[in-house]
Amino acid sequence: MSAPVTGSVQAVVVDPETVGRHRTIVTIDGPAGTGKSSVSQRLASRLGLQFLDTGAMYRAAAVVVIDRQLDIADVAGVCEVVAACDLHFDWRTDPPALLVNGQNVMHRIRDDDVTRLVSPLAGIGRLREHMVRKQRIIANQHPRLVSEGRDQGSVVFPDAEVKFYLDARPEIRAARRTAELRAKGKTVDEKVVLREIIERDLSDSTRTDGPLTVPLDAIEVDTSDLDRDQVIDLLERHVRIRVGLS
Ligand code: C5P
Repeated sequence: MSAPVTGSVQAVVVDPETVGRHRTIVTIDGPAGTGKSSVSQRLASRLGLQFLDTGAMYRAAAVVVIDRQLDIADVAGVCEVVAACDLHFDWRTDPPALLVNGQNVMHRIRDDDVTRLVSPLAGIGRLREHMVRKQRIIANQHPRLVSEGRDQGSVVFPDAEVKFYLDARPEIRAARRTAELRAKGKTVDEKVVLREIIERDLSDSTRTDGPLTVPLDAIEVDTSDLDRDQVIDLLERHVRIRVGLS
């Protein structure tokens, strides 16, 4: 039996739309092959947050450029076409599927041609402005997020509650990426994967707009000698302490 209520009780109107919607943004940045995507996705699910894969957004833009045979030297043309596309996530799936003009592009975005084009494409300042705007709109609609990318803590959400920067030695990252691709049935040469990872790091970290960088006040984690669950455990502990998530 519950205890009797004494004194005056003020009615509290609970809006189901806003319950639990107070903002919690966790950003995870870092170079290719650090395991960011799978760590971010699983961390989000452990914490009851949603997962935003911003790399998928740049990859989807690369798919558009390839499919429409655009020349990335035509910056204005590329930006106009990408901006005119309806790019949005279907939040009912886990991980959320990315749709371009209603078409699910998830099966396509990790293909080699897309991976080769995405970094030079992501160097286009105007395209980045468009993506940054979109990511902030998404965060307004989904304010409890683990957002993963290259510039999430530095540019897009500098006021995020918790920021992480994941890294690992290039050889380790190449070995992980190679294993991942082989598990998908692809024939890959680890040396080529390493070379492409180093090239992509260089291109991502030397661009003028939104370069890959350690955000101010980010927690840096070297994942070289940790397995995926150890990384997730570590990040989860940090977030629960910082944000007080129970
Ligand atoms: O994370 P992922 O490997 O899918 O990202 C693909 C590419 O998209 C990166 O190499 C980078 O060039 C670009 N990117 C970016 N900014 C982000 C996320 C990804 O420039 N926030």
